[in-house]
Amino acid sequence: MTRYETDEWRDGAWKGPFGDRFMRTLATPKLMLVRGEGARVWDVDGNEYLDFLAGIAVNSLGHAHPALVEAVTAQVGTLAHVSNYFSTPPQLELAERLRRITGAGESGRVLFGNSGAEANEAAFKLARLNRTGPHGRRTRVLALHNAFHGRTMGSLALTGKPPMREAFEPLPGGVEHIDSTIEALEASIDGHVAALFVEPIKGEAGVLDLPDGFLERARELTEKHGALLIVDEIQTGVGRTGEWFAYQRAGILPDAVTVAKGMAGGVPIGALVTFGWASELFSQGQHGSTFGGNPLATAAGNAVLAEIERAGLVQNAARRGEELKQIIRDLDHPLIDAVRGHGLLIGIGLTEGEAHRLSDAALAEGLIINAPNESSIRLAPPLIIGDAELAGFRERFGRALAAV
Ligand code: PLP
Repeated sequence: MTRYETDEWRDGAWKGPFGDRFMRTLATPKLMLVRGEGARVWDVDGNEYLDFLAGIAVNSLGHAHPALVEAVTAQVGTLAHVSNYFSTPPQLELAERLRRITGAGESGRVLFGNSGAEANEAAFKLARLNRTGPHGRRTRVLALHNAFHGRTMGSLALTGKPPMREAFEPLPGGVEHIDSTIEALEASIDGHVAALFVEPIKGEAGVLDLPDGFLERARELTEKHGALLIVDEIQTGVGRTGEWFAYQRAGILPDAVTVAKGMAGGVPIGALVTFGWASELFSQGQHGSTFGGNPLATAAGNAVLAEIERAGLVQNAARRGEELKQIIRDLDHPLIDAVRGHGLLIGIGLTEGEAHRLSDAALAEGLIINAPNESSIRLAPPLIIGDAELAGFRERFGRALAAV
């Protein structure tokens, strides 16, 4: 039992203080969680849940994985933070791992930050540095309708969801949103484009795949016109889709990739990784962050990525993802319209707008899933799941479907 499991917080007593103490940006959550182990978490009242959301694709190794616990404990007891006036071994090690698994190789460079939005801010600045095209100044930055890139002003400008943006305008300029079609790419990319941002599977929009051939054509056209192809792998990256990165399924290399969420298993981190000529754009003093790349976060990143490799979790995500999709299809429920996504980032399209009711019913059955909108369910369990977790999902999700 943790020290929080007291009457101060039990039986919903935490809800009042939650409503009073936080900015109104946060809705009052359904549960107060106090501990986790593997793919399971427990609430303050002692109830157990199967976690098929993993902190929105963050807890790659599940909860309280010994490899992460040991690495973080050892690092915080040795050297937690030093600022970027000094180097540390974990940051150099993580940068090298990222160059290897992204395919950037020796021409790759890494810039560490603390979140996904921050990684995309850095990528947006990179885009501005791709200044000169065949017709003078490159002024256009392209991104996709319905894609999500974060909540800071720059990443919000890239986000293709007008209702999220409108209250905060004017946002940094020059961003145009296009449809996720090959025709839209062909009609939009020219010598005035500095960069194209792509979310390879739109997670926040309900786990929507891009059309076949989209990334390949995006690569051809951006290369032809000298625009940067920047892939946001914040939700899809580090093994979740059954590849280290989703662009690898298309057999292409981008000019830059943004990584965060699952990279350090819950310790905040973000990174921009550049490839080839894009690695030469930033110069000294043009970007930085106090915490970015600190030894604590990068030690956590090394532990997570090393364990993903050691335990074959990229392959496990591919295999378990297929099994999970089959389980959902076999339930053969009239509410289920489509099963989308790759690996362990799965979307369930619903025939009716019942997603919130279904996710509430699942929670009542001890299963954490997510409704990014009224017509989709998102599943993003830890990459470690096996037969027992899949059986638990089948049982609890089946009961939730029967209840709505
Ligand atoms: N980009 C994508 C594709 C995301 O899914 C998210 C978060 O959900 C972000 C960017 C923003 O990341 P963060 O919430 O760490 O700022």
